[in-house]
Amino acid sequence: MRLGVIGGGQLGRMLIAAARELGVAVSVLDPDPEAACAVVADRFFVGDLTDASAVTALAEQCDVLTYEIEHINVSALQALAERVTLVRPAPQVLAIIQDKLVQKQHLAARGVPVPEFTAGRPGESAEAAAERLGYPCVFKARRGGYDGHGVLVCRDRSELERAGVDAGWDASGWYLERYVPELREPAVVVARSVEGTLEVYPPFEMMFHPERNICDAVIVPARLPGQARDRAAEVAVAAAESFGSAGLFAVELFLSRDGAITVNEIAPRPHNSGHVTIESCVTSQFEQHLRAVCGFPLGSSALLSPGAMVNLLAQSGAGGPARIAGVSEALAFAGVHLHLYGKQRSRAGRKMGHVTALAGSTEEALRRARAAAAAVRIT
Ligand code: ADP
Repeated sequence: MRLGVIGGGQLGRMLIAAARELGVAVSVLDPDPEAACAVVADRFFVGDLTDASAVTALAEQCDVLTYEIEHINVSALQALAERVTLVRPAPQVLAIIQDKLVQKQHLAARGVPVPEFTAGRPGESAEAAAERLGYPCVFKARRGGYDGHGVLVCRDRSELERAGVDAGWDASGWYLERYVPELREPAVVVARSVEGTLEVYPPFEMMFHPERNICDAVIVPARLPGQARDRAAEVAVAAAESFGSAGLFAVELFLSRDGAITVNEIAPRPHNSGHVTIESCVTSQFEQHLRAVCGFPLGSSALLSPGAMVNLLAQSGAGGPARIAGVSEALAFAGVHLHLYGKQRSRAGRKMGHVTALAGSTEEALRRARAAAAAVRIT
């Protein structure tokens, strides 16, 4: 079995580690010759992810093509899926997911609960759109957002004015969502095999950096009351099933103050929230993604142990060749696993690795993972 992966970052790198064990050869396409996958892929192609000829050259080496990033050329994939090779998840899934507004419309039309949202009307000002939906509201870029870039929370009109949204406002590029007064941000990863069977992971809980709107830690299982846990799984399955495609779907959810579960967004691939599965579940999300897209039977998603994962981000002021210190100190903590992504260059806030800890409770696992992560300094 030969698998092609579009995108050569850390997700691809961890996918390759799982592929080695299953005897799947992996070819990767990425524009950066120093990408995390460059030294671990069986074959590595340097090329633009949106370049149809580069994607076609990759596909010609493979039996199945998948992707670890969403911002790629969907029409090239659609043409390939018709002529050359299997593309999983199906290119149509990406066409929906790439545009957050289309994604929300797709889910809402299928009865999957989402926060109330509205598209900007042609010629409408940001202020008028916000008044129409009501404050507090969240402006979101329809395309290209990541790690909170392209998301702006406005509690009232003065916040909107201060953010200067009107200056860059383009009703076709943005949409608005009602602010969810959330308690928690669980995520449920759902795998769907080629035959349509499902495996649902226990809910993970994403924890956010207090100042920067970025997920810095994950615990499993999520702190959810029993009813919310069942509802989270039910909503995630409905969301994943709505695409009718084989693959792995990471469903980011909101649990609001009133107990309602809604879908924030879906990634059709392994996800940062699922890194903890490498150690804490019977089958890691990476092996599961491989099984799903290669047409193998799915593995068990059962939890082996409570666990926690903490992202290792390059420190503020970092830049240039990456320097990593404190590895020995981190490895001295009991039950801790270190994953470094092999990125050659650091940039403040860039994800350079992660630490996972298993323990008898999620609290203890998180305490150990945070302590070990604090020992690592990346500049
Ligand atoms: P990204 O794709 O950049 O991760 P998201 O749409 O997931 O962007 O938003 C980033 C974060 O902003 C979320 O994880 C959540 O903390 C907050 N957020 C987004 N939408 C809402 C909303 N409607 N209500 C409350 N908080 C939100």
